[in-house]
Amino acid sequence: MASADVEKPFLEYSGPKDGVTYPIQVLYCGECTMPIEYCEYYPNYEKCKEWLERHLPQEFQKLTTGDGDGEKDDADDKKKRQTRGGKGMLKAKKKAEPKGIKMWTQSRGKKKKITTLVGLADYDIDLKVASKFFANKFSCGASANDSGEIVIQGDVKDDLFDILPEKWPQIDEDSINDLGDKK
Ligand SMILES: [Zn+2]
Repeated sequence: MASADVEKPFLEYSGPKDGVTYPIQVLYCGECTMPIEYCEYYPNYEKCKEWLERHLPQEFQKLTTGDGDGEKDDADDKKKRQTRGGKGMLKAKKKAEPKGIKMWTQSRGKKKKITTLVGLADYDIDLKVASKFFANKFSCGASANDSGEIVIQGDVKDDLFDILPEKWPQIDEDSINDLGDKK
C-alpha cells in the first residue's frame, strides 16, 4: 500500500481479514468519525448505532443480524457462559427432574433378603436421616453407603411404595421403580 493511500495512519492495520473482499470501501461513522468497524470501541456506541441505523441501514443490519463482529462476540459469550455454567446446570437439572427411585431385593443367606434403595438424594433427602427413619419404621438394620444407596434388612419393597410418598410428599408413587429380585 502506498503511503499516500493511508488516510488514517494512527489506526493499527492488522492485516487482511478472512472473508473480506479487497479493496475495502471504508465507511466512516458520522457519530464518532471512525471507520464503522471501530464504533463498538467508542464509549457512546449506542449513539453510533443510532447514526448507523439512520445513515447506513445495511451496515446497521449486519451488526444486529449476526454478520457483524459484535454479534459474533455475543455468540462467543454465550458459548463461554454455557461452558462455565455446565456443572451448575447439571446439578440444577438433577434437582428439578429426579430420575426416580429404584429399589430391588437381594438374597443374603438362606432366608434373608435385603432391599436396596437408590435415588432419594435426587429429592433432596438426607440419606442418613432416611436410613434412620427406615430402621425405626421397620425395626431393622438400615444404612446408607457412599454410592447413594440405602440398604434395608428384609424385603420391604411393598411397604416402601406407601411409606416413601407418605414420608416425603415430593416423591410420586409412580416414580418408584421396583426392579425385582437381583441374583
Ligand atoms: Zn461510530
